[in-house]
This record gives sequence, structure tokens and C-alpha cells, in this order.
Amino acid sequence: MKSELPSIPERLAAVRSELPNHVTLVAVSKTKPQTAIESAASTGQIEFGENRAAELAEKASELASLNLRWHHIGHLQTKKVKQVVPHAHLIHAVDSERLLSEIEKRSASIGKVSDVLLQIHIAQESSKFGWSFSEFDTFLQAQSWNELKHVRIRGLMGMATFTDDHQQIRSEFQSLKKAFDTTSSIGSSWDTLSMGMSGDWKIAVDEGSTMVRIGSSIFGSR
Ligand SMILES: *Cc1c(COP(=O)(O)O)cnc(C)c1O
Repeated sequence: MKSELPSIPERLAAVRSELPNHVTLVAVSKTKPQTAIESAASTGQIEFGENRAAELAEKASELASLNLRWHHIGHLQTKKVKQVVPHAHLIHAVDSERLLSEIEKRSASIGKVSDVLLQIHIAQESSKFGWSFSEFDTFLQAQSWNELKHVRIRGLMGMATFTDDHQQIRSEFQSLKKAFDTTSSIGSSWDTLSMGMSGDWKIAVDEGSTMVRIGSSIFGSR
């Protein structure tokens, strides 16, 4: 019997048809089987997002022949960094200097330069991780990031409050975009603003996102 649900390639095509060309689509495959990733990859999708270190490492190894780009998108514990660094194309949610130092150390040990984004806490929920805007300012001014030789800071990442209030989501994304635009000290690598998920990516793109992380709209609910 043929399923009535749209297939993964159909869902991907639907998202892509509305996404501007300059916005990178990270297909969030966390908890989904390799067959789902292969199905997405068969349409040319190369960027995939995972939020668990072990799952990312396992999928990246087993699907190595597909030459995919793996994004670590969720909270990353310091002790898990060594599992992620060898495989990650981009680490999205760096939320402390300690984590940055660990990424530096693990990247140096394998002779890699890791690309990362700093997570800013923009939501009202206290459960979400990330730096406050003032902590981020202090970090920029202290200039310790200048000493990182194996970490390249590419931009910012944030998650809006989970709410139906679109105006609130919009203003949270606006505040992140403003911080992104007014950060000039890091230099030419500063080019990525990761914001927008299945429920709010259209607002995020309106407000200047360059990278969206979309899971359930492509792979179905988890
Ligand atoms: C799971 C997850 C997503 C994708 O969420 P969907 O609502 O399924 O699109 C995006 N970003 C992060 C950090 C996530 O953990």
C-alpha cells in the first residue's frame, strides 16, 4: 500500500522551493535512521545536523562515502568535544570559553581548524543555553579569541522562544541579527547567522538568517 505522506525528497523540495538561494539548509536528522539520511542525500542535500556527539560520530563514519557535511547543532558538553571535532563541518552552539578552549585543544591535536558559531541566548525560556548579549560583548572585548589558532569563529546561532507569538519570535531574531551585524572585530571569517527551525524559519529568513536548521518538516516528527 502506498503511503499518503509526502516522501523525504518531496518535503525537501517543498522547503527548498521557499528558501532563498543564499540561505544554507541544514537537514536535522537527529534520531532518524541512516536510510532517511540517504534518501535526503539522494536529492543533493549535503548538510546534516545532529545534536548528540555519539550519534553524529557514528553516522558520519558509516556514511563517510557520501561526503556529507555534519553540523553539531545542540548543546555540546566539554567531554564530548573529542568525538565531534574529527567529523564536524560546523559546531553551532558554543556557549562558553571553556568549550572554545577544548575545541581548540582537540582540533590542534588532529591538525584541524574547526569552524564554530557562538550561541546567544535570545529566548525568554531560561532552559535554553547560550551567552547573553552582555557576556558576548565582554568576550569580544577581552580578545582572548585572537589566540585561537585551530578555531575559526564564523558567526552566531540562536533559538527563539517556543511560542505562537510571531512578533516576539521576530524581535528575538532581530536582536540576534543586530548583534551579528555590529560585530566587526572578528574579521573576514564572520559570515554565518544560524537561526530558524521547522516552526519559525520563514520569520528567521525574513530577519536575515543565512543558515536554517530544519528537522521535522523534512523527516517527520520525532
Ligand atoms: C532539533 C533541533 C532543530 C530542528 O528542530 P525542528 O523543529 O525539528 O525543525 C534545530 N536546532 C536545534 C538546535 C535542534 O536541537
